[in-house]
Amino acid sequence: MNKFRIGLGYDVHQLEEGRPFWLGGIQIPHTHGAKGHSDADVICHVICDALLGAANMRNIGYHFSDKDPQWKGVDSKILLSKVMEMIREAGYEVGNVDVTVVLQEPKLNPHIPQMKECLSGVMQIDAEDVSIKATTSEHIGFVGRKEGIAAHCVALIYK
Ligand SMILES: [Zn+2]
Repeated sequence: MNKFRIGLGYDVHQLEEGRPFWLGGIQIPHTHGAKGHSDADVICHVICDALLGAANMRNIGYHFSDKDPQWKGVDSKILLSKVMEMIREAGYEVGNVDVTVVLQEPKLNPHIPQMKECLSGVMQIDAEDVSIKATTSEHIGFVGRKEGIAAHCVALIYK
């Protein structure tokens, strides 16, 4: 019998005016961008955390510390490809990942097909196995005040 495992990822970044906004492996045109030690791509980060969680391999900060200058400004697609290597070395393959992004603006729907294409390429899986959804927080809380972006992800992996 196949061994299936499930993992959960959650991540938050502040938004700051004038920063490039990297999300789902691509750059989104917007007045604000996410702030972080890396390129702050919250979708790449939650997928990494969900995959690592599913494989019981700690989390993204454990492997790629925000104190390590090696990862300063790093393209998070590199982190995602490294996580894919780690889980494949442990004998796992990805079933699917499902991401929910919580962001007040801009609208992400026009960008989602390109994100799925990009991330499935990085992960070397079928684009049909990468789901990305976006919701607002109805103007409530830090997301509603446009102070930050949050994302959730579940990932299924199997041996
Ligand atoms: Zn992050």
